[in-house]
Amino acid sequence: MIKKIFKWIGILVLAVVAIGATLYMIYLRPFMQRMKQVTTVQYDKELTLVLGGGGNSGILVSDSLVIVIDTKQDEAAEQLSKQVVQLAGNRPILVINTHYHPDHTKGNKYYKGQNILVGGNYTKEFWIKDVDKETLPTMWLKDKMDIKMGDDTATIINLAQNIHTASDVMVYLHKRKMLFGGDIILNKQVPALFGVADPEGYLYALDMLPKRFDIKYIVPGHGPMGGIEIIDNFRQYFLDMKTAATDESKKDELVAKYKDWAQIPVLMSPGRTISVFKDKAKQK
Ligand SMILES: [Zn+2]
Repeated sequence: MIKKIFKWIGILVLAVVAIGATLYMIYLRPFMQRMKQVTTVQYDKELTLVLGGGGNSGILVSDSLVIVIDTKQDEAAEQLSKQVVQLAGNRPILVINTHYHPDHTKGNKYYKGQNILVGGNYTKEFWIKDVDKETLPTMWLKDKMDIKMGDDTATIINLAQNIHTASDVMVYLHKRKMLFGGDIILNKQVPALFGVADPEGYLYALDMLPKRFDIKYIVPGHGPMGGIEIIDNFRQYFLDMKTAATDESKKDELVAKYKDWAQIPVLMSPGRTISVFKDKAKQK
């Protein structure tokens, strides 16, 4: 009898491992490999975009300051820091993190002695616990800040409510009409919604941003850069998932609309967005 139970436990464990390995090979590995690819775009004389290798990054140079938006992780983070140091020379560097997640912040450790700005709704204790001490910021932005960068002005805003995280930051370049969206704006990628992430918060932000700023170009947190259609598409995604959360009969059709978007089953999927919408509706 005991032997039989062990045999079945063994078969069950093997089956789980096999399914896990298959899912990893089909979904997670290609996703991770795509995440690792880095593309550098010399957008203009002062602005370099370094896409992929974690969150998308931007390096903006002026006579007196160099701004870096998001510092990536792993090899791409080190590579980016070398590019930044080369461009900066003796000028001070201001690092801006759009949010605390490691794919946007792990490279902070390469900017010792420089200022690192994040949203002011996080606390130091939270950061040390949820990221680490090595990447600790030096500036906690409560509201907004304008910095003159050559003939452009960079506006940094803290969205200060639960959206992707509790304190998402964006950077808007007025003359270039360009918005760095962090993970509030993704291009053809399903959002990762964990912890305090709130799909209603996304809908608020994706409505508000085009009214507040004259946006022509968008550098999303992940995926290629593009125009205002990135916001329109991402907003439509949330509207569709909200509909799917209340109307079961439309669910399959609405989910199928996004089958070519980068996603991971269960973790980063339309099903997950729908279930978070349902949870939020229940809390009300
Ligand atoms: Zn990210």
